[in-house]
Amino acid sequence: MTGRPSTAERLGSDAFDTDATTHLTLSDPALCRTCEKKPCIRVCPAEVYHWETDRLRISYENCLETGACRVACETIGQRALVWAYPAAGRGVQYRLG
Ligand code: SF4
Repeated sequence: MTGRPSTAERLGSDAFDTDATTHLTLSDPALCRTCEKKPCIRVCPAEVYHWETDRLRISYENCLETGACRVACETIGQRALVWAYPAAGRGVQYRLG
């Protein structure tokens, strides 16, 4: 790596101390079935959200803690997402900013 690191290099340097339980939950998964645009899937830069047949799968292990999904769900979605940071000391660790 020379000079300023690229976005890919920065993301590739991230480390994760994954908690055993998710920090991203749904108040009511049924709300996601009626969520027309499902914006969480499109705004998450880490592709944490995937639609599987009739339910939202949340791969919280990959969360970059940007909060983009929270804003999207609250403003465009059905407000089903209950967003929180991982337990203290867990989650993503940025190495190159
Ligand atoms: S935006 Fe919210 S309500 Fe819509 S699919 Fe995602 S988590 Fe569910």
